[in-house]
Amino acid sequence: MAEACKHPAVRVVSRTEDSEFVECVQCGEVFDSEEFEDMRIEESLRDGEEDKE
Ligand SMILES: [Zn+2]
Repeated sequence: MAEACKHPAVRVVSRTEDSEFVECVQCGEVFDSEEFEDMRIEESLRDGEEDKE
């Protein structure tokens, strides 16, 4: 079932000279750590809006 994973925890699986790959410990998806940072930034921006009163 395609449940949206927010990748709450990741671990580094591979590192090269100019990039780093992380794997989500929950769903096992592997992505570039930069990509992961972008996701986190979007997520926090969205959370910030929701928290606004
Ligand atoms: Zn995940």
